[in-house]
Amino acid sequence: MNIVMFGPPAAGKGTQAKMLVAKHSLLQFSTGDMLREARVSGTERGRKVSGIMDRGELVSDEIVISLIDEQISLNQDSHGFIFDGFPRTIAQAEALDALMNLYDSQIDLVLSLKVDDSSLVNRITKRFTEEGRADDNPESFKVRLNAYNTQTASLLPYYSSKGKLFEVDGMLSINEVSILINEALNNKSKGLI
Ligand code: AMP
Repeated sequence: MNIVMFGPPAAGKGTQAKMLVAKHSLLQFSTGDMLREARVSGTERGRKVSGIMDRGELVSDEIVISLIDEQISLNQDSHGFIFDGFPRTIAQAEALDALMNLYDSQIDLVLSLKVDDSSLVNRITKRFTEEGRADDNPESFKVRLNAYNTQTASLLPYYSSKGKLFEVDGMLSINEVSILINEALNNKSKGLI
């Protein structure tokens, strides 16, 4: 099964994706993690994206699509993929559909974590204090939230019109969200959703 973990920054996508990886032997592709690794290893790609990421803007579709393209082609023996933080634009979603098609596969389920803006701000303020991630600072976070609302949220109708969207209350506890997600996966594999 191939899953997109969808939602605004700090909705809990990464946490839930990691829990699914452990339970269902899926591979997690986080474009945010891949880009941070590229920065740490000082690659040309990493240098190109560092200012953009620190400001909280989206990096180019071309860069993230090529990262995902590489990983999908390298991991064809996997049970399935979880995309975390990708796609974030319609162009990325269309490219992902085309890539999956190329390998006779498809996105099966898009899990959308819904969290209200004030809770996101509280979560990020806490994470910034604890972890000090540069793009969690209040100015960058404002830009990231705006990028989500203006460029990414339009993917909700894109996936909903394909019957792939499943919404989850991301305000619940980590364990409660995880239970809802696992129920959705079970129902999906039984053809109930
Ligand atoms: P994340 O860890 O998913 O919040 O991503 C951190 C930052 O990496 C984002 O604010 C963007 O600058 C960049 N990024 C990650 N994934 C994408 C994507 N799919 N499209 C564009 N930029 C991305």
